[in-house]
Amino acid sequence: MDANASFGLLPEVQDFLRELPEGMLNASSIHRGGQKSRALIEEARDEIGRALGGVKNGRIVFTSGATEANNMAIGLPFASCGSQAGELVISAYEHPSVREAAFRLQTSGVKVKEVGAQSPTELIPSILANVTANTKLLSLMLANNETGDVFEVNKLKAACSFAPYIHTDCVQAFGKLPLFWNSLGVDMLSLSAHKIGGLPGVGALVLREGLPNEPFIVGGPQETRWRAGTENIVGIVSFGIAAKCVRDNRESLAREMEKQKSFIERYLSQELSDVTFHRFAPTQLPNTLNVHTPGVNADDLVVALDLKNILISSGAACASGKPEPSHVLLALGKSEKVARESIRISVTGLETMDQIRRAAEDIVSTVREMRGGVTA
Ligand code: PLP
Repeated sequence: MDANASFGLLPEVQDFLRELPEGMLNASSIHRGGQKSRALIEEARDEIGRALGGVKNGRIVFTSGATEANNMAIGLPFASCGSQAGELVISAYEHPSVREAAFRLQTSGVKVKEVGAQSPTELIPSILANVTANTKLLSLMLANNETGDVFEVNKLKAACSFAPYIHTDCVQAFGKLPLFWNSLGVDMLSLSAHKIGGLPGVGALVLREGLPNEPFIVGGPQETRWRAGTENIVGIVSFGIAAKCVRDNRESLAREMEKQKSFIERYLSQELSDVTFHRFAPTQLPNTLNVHTPGVNADDLVVALDLKNILISSGAACASGKPEPSHVLLALGKSEKVARESIRISVTGLETMDQIRRAAEDIVSTVREMRGGVTA
């Protein structure tokens, strides 16, 4: 129940890994072995493009993950600015791979504006109010990894009085929501394979044609000079297989996710009357719940549930192990105490309802045990 950290390998990907073809040679080699690898990579690229409803006027560039894709997107408009650094607007809810990449640019003179809002209806207007003629890039994720909030990225382009590049992190939206490159109105879009059932360590940045060619990693001419380095063929093929599954199964899987999420929400609300669910936007991912369990430390709860074979998270996986409370919950106006008592449950949709019911019962009984037998 920690799909937002990693979905876990889809059976189709496991089959591919079990029967891994021989070779997997360097796709830049001009011999037959290299060309076979090249064909596999291009097949995966096409599959991802189809899962995005086609990438008209766009180019899918493979990276080592969404972290690299986000770093590349954030740095791209500022790579050759010199002293004319300009401004960057990001939302306060972005993944650390966007935030940290943005903050690092401050040392080169880029003015970074991190924008939150008191209410969901104010978010897009607040972001737009911070865009000026100097703004080179605006970055807003489509769906938040911690709360499941879905943001109206598609409204940005038309409403913007200026014309900064627009980037969106679609890591959590892909596979859970309908996602169409052509209707989002963005210039760059980040994806990650392991969030949809492929291997970790591979991702992609979709780039609109005509952007300045400013690779984040330089070296060889791979990925049409957008990303140097011999391609991770096994990872890329797994990404393509998972993307095909998204195209074939997303709707039915999302329905299962929604059913399971609703069950857990209802059950926890009935059994633990003081829990609350953190959500901000009117639309949510079908699989994510962020739950405040008053009086129970989230990290302790994660460990106690792990002993019962229930895998959840106390926030973003990348942040767990760090003592800081979630920046997302703080930006949503929650106190540090509430943030430290909040867990994230994110289902894959592949569990049976029986498993979900047992997991919900175990969560409730563990919370009660941790409260010293006092039932809420
Ligand atoms: N963006 C979001 C919203 C994420 O949830 C994650 C992973 O947690 C990433 C980016 C980073 O993805 P990757 O693990 O492929 O580097």
